[in-house]
Amino acid sequence: MKKRGAMMLMWISLLLGCSRSPIIQSSPPQSDDPYAQARSRMVETQIRARGIRDPRVLKAMEKVPRHRFALPEYRDHAYEDTPLPIRAGQTMSQPYIVALMTELLQLRGDEKVLEVGTGSGYHAAILAELAREVYTIEIEPVLSEGARRVLQELGYQNIHFRVGDGYQGWPEAAPFEAIVVTAAPREIPPKLVEQLKEGGRMVIPVGTWRQELLLVTKTKNGITTRTIAPVRFVPMRRPD
Ligand code: SAH
Repeated sequence: MKKRGAMMLMWISLLLGCSRSPIIQSSPPQSDDPYAQARSRMVETQIRARGIRDPRVLKAMEKVPRHRFALPEYRDHAYEDTPLPIRAGQTMSQPYIVALMTELLQLRGDEKVLEVGTGSGYHAAILAELAREVYTIEIEPVLSEGARRVLQELGYQNIHFRVGDGYQGWPEAAPFEAIVVTAAPREIPPKLVEQLKEGGRMVIPVGTWRQELLLVTKTKNGITTRTIAPVRFVPMRRPD
């Protein structure tokens, strides 16, 4: 998994390397974050260019320092158009996918959001910029701990962490106006539907080898689902 990820990155950076024209810097960087320019370019070329329009989502993607969530050896790749390997053989999603999933939730700022699959913590940070409270569950303790550390360093105070099985959701904090699942189950987990508020939205990749990103909306009579796009996520695991 790691090896494949590294190969892919190499391949993509080769590809980008060939087509990239030299950048002439006419003014000094705007901030002391050495990655600020790379981040702006990511938002323009990968996210806005592909149709993400919600200004709050664009602003959050512009603000959150994605490189802080990457492993040191991948930090310089943090703003490229690719998923990145993280610890425990997992990956953080491609920036565009994070933006797309987040935009589909239509957050306005006063929601309670559940994330299944904390991973690096990057998506949790984006959600924390856009909602009132974020509850995030991760099955791998080492990932949850790492994410908690970075998110604390960055000053987020509206994120709650749990090490556990995302299939169970977080009943004590339910119902949620929005749920985002960042690993793929074979089917929509019933407990997550139960914990979604009526009128609430869940974005979830479903499937095994072939996966579809689904937008699930809870109605009075059940759920409606809309297929958004074919995707590739790590599988959602059952606890050992
Ligand atoms: N949102 C993450 C992406 C992480 S990849 C980010 O921004 O980096 C998906 C994550 O889901 C992995 O970290 C994996 O360990 C976790 N996962 C897999 N099965 C799970 C389960 N049943 N419950 C909770 N987390 C799970």
